[in-house]
Amino acid sequence: MSRPLPVFIAPLRLCEMRTVVAGELGLDDMDRLAEFLSDQEGEVVLSLSFDEDERGIPFAVMTLDARLRLVCQRCLGPWEMRVRREVRLGFTREPGAAERIAEHGYEPVVLERNELKLRDLVEDELLLALPMIPKHEREDCQPRLGGGEGRDDESPGRENPFAVLAQLKGRREH
Ligand SMILES: [Zn+2]
Repeated sequence: MSRPLPVFIAPLRLCEMRTVVAGELGLDDMDRLAEFLSDQEGEVVLSLSFDEDERGIPFAVMTLDARLRLVCQRCLGPWEMRVRREVRLGFTREPGAAERIAEHGYEPVVLERNELKLRDLVEDELLLALPMIPKHEREDCQPRLGGGEGRDDESPGRENPFAVLAQLKGRREH
């Protein structure tokens, strides 16, 4: 009984209308996220409440709820993670305004055009919610037979999707 969501949204217009967009998105066509998942079953339940604050900053409170099936980086077994996240997004068309928006407690979203793909926005937030190194608690972890203790392979340098993740996180923190 998932409700259909628009593929594209026009955040500034939605903020003027002070409206709510809510529904479910499948994880199965999020290509960047797919690199981290053991399978892409399931969906993310989301809602966005658009509004303008007293300074006239267009913003949305976005909530996400999803179960992600990740791969434990120690034993390479499946590891399920519940993501529940609430973020306050501040929208602007001007790159120079991002800093001011961040100062008021929003995560800035600089719009290159009036519309953006809702899925991209959601996928970014799910990526940001991932731990840098997903792994089981010790007692739940089952290193492969013959592999001894298993390795905590945190060495940089190899081609590793988590390096890409680190870049994304770094970019958002400014
Ligand atoms: Zn494990």
